[in-house]
Amino acid sequence: MVELEVFFFPAMAPGHMIPILDMAKLFASRGVHSTIITTPLNAPAFAKGVEKSNDSGFHMSIKIVEFPKVSGLPEDCENADQITSPAMLPLFIRATMMLEEQVEQLLGEYRPNCLVADMFFPWAVDSAAKFDIPTLIFHGTSFFASCANEQVRLHEPFKNLKNESDDFIIPNLPHKVKLCLGQIPPQHHQEKDTVFAKMLIAAKESEMKSNGVIVNSFYELEPDYADHYRNVLNRRAWHIGPLSLCNRTFEEKAQRGKLSTANGDECLKWLDSKSPDSVLYICFGSVSKFPSHQLHEIAMGLEASGQQFIWVVRKSDEKSEDWMPEGFEKRMKGKGLIIRGWAPQVLLLDHETIGGFVTHCGWNSTLEGISAGVPMVTWPSFAEQFYNEKLITDVLRIGVSVGVKKWVILSGHGNIKRDAVESAVRSIMVGDEAEERRKRCKKLKEMARKAVEEGGSSHSDLNALIQGLTLRQI
Ligand code: UDP
Repeated sequence: MVELEVFFFPAMAPGHMIPILDMAKLFASRGVHSTIITTPLNAPAFAKGVEKSNDSGFHMSIKIVEFPKVSGLPEDCENADQITSPAMLPLFIRATMMLEEQVEQLLGEYRPNCLVADMFFPWAVDSAAKFDIPTLIFHGTSFFASCANEQVRLHEPFKNLKNESDDFIIPNLPHKVKLCLGQIPPQHHQEKDTVFAKMLIAAKESEMKSNGVIVNSFYELEPDYADHYRNVLNRRAWHIGPLSLCNRTFEEKAQRGKLSTANGDECLKWLDSKSPDSVLYICFGSVSKFPSHQLHEIAMGLEASGQQFIWVVRKSDEKSEDWMPEGFEKRMKGKGLIIRGWAPQVLLLDHETIGGFVTHCGWNSTLEGISAGVPMVTWPSFAEQFYNEKLITDVLRIGVSVGVKKWVILSGHGNIKRDAVESAVRSIMVGDEAEERRKRCKKLKEMARKAVEEGGSSHSDLNALIQGLTLRQI
């Protein structure tokens, strides 16, 4: 049989590159030749994974496209995690739109059997169609968030609301899900003309033209929403996650994403000295940053909670340490570990002593937390994070909200007080309700692992997808 070749084209942001690299590795492990399209400064993030996969006898490669120059955008800014102000966002999007010609050249030259394109490249479906190549879209989020967002977009249930704190129920969903006006993406109501909003409209149109959607989730996690997405919203979708579970060894987990600024061995040694489920892990993803006064409140809340923790700190002002309460690090010696920069997240979450996760509800982090069986404190900032929060707190009942009521791109508002931090942290770590929550988490962890094993729902859906592509029936 002819070897199937699939091109993967991830958006230039860690939260998209990381799961798409996992996906490409997974396809390669099933005999597909996986090729990743990326830019020069992003290529190193894929190189190790590709090399290791090839060492194991699989077939992976990288194709480079030059990142277009756009006036106002620093020359070395090729990744969304380098966007430091909202004004840079439209420039970054404009640059990614200009990749079309180079990507078409690659598709024309290599004629892969399929293109897996990130939703942030809405033009890619038409580019692939020119060469009769089917395209599958990757949004990087849950079935739940896709369903909720689509129902909000279609029915605008917020239309008559005035204040950010006014709430509404999302129509037509299997559960009663309540949000307030301040928590929905502004492109739905007040910012319809921005470059970002227009790109999202184009993304929706291209999704409808595509051959379907790949979802990093597993059926048993959100069966009502997997069904709703397919049967009510009529989308063709394959669920093949949790993708992070394809990383099995210490090395794979430790090197996922970026090179960690912490020593994985030392972190594990520190964790080894603690008892099971006794340490909190705090991390807000790859792009969110907080102002100093918010970090200060988190520190005070953590200390008051009496819980042990590993806290990944990324702040708006990288240089100053003025957020740190006086004597904090000294007092927390042996009790709390601070990682400045990048943590080996999956490695840490999977350790048996991690018993809680304070998360910004990015979908990768959410699913990694679920796969590790840890309850969560939810602290969303933007994108689909407020929807994921509702999945965690109201549908799965495996987390407690810290109480963010307003969408803010890039960095949190900084208005969560220490008492709210202390109370949310305590409620996921101690008490009878915490124990019940933890039991639900452990069950989901088991289900996640079963889903990706032979015979599991994600394993089978990936088989069906690969077979469909081989038979040109997708
Ligand atoms: N991540 C990590 N170390 C960090 C921060 C993030 O390994 O210090 C990884 C995390 O495991 C996840 C991804 O980066 O896979 C972040 O994706 P997510 O969807 O959670 O959030 P985003 O960064 O896109 O907001």
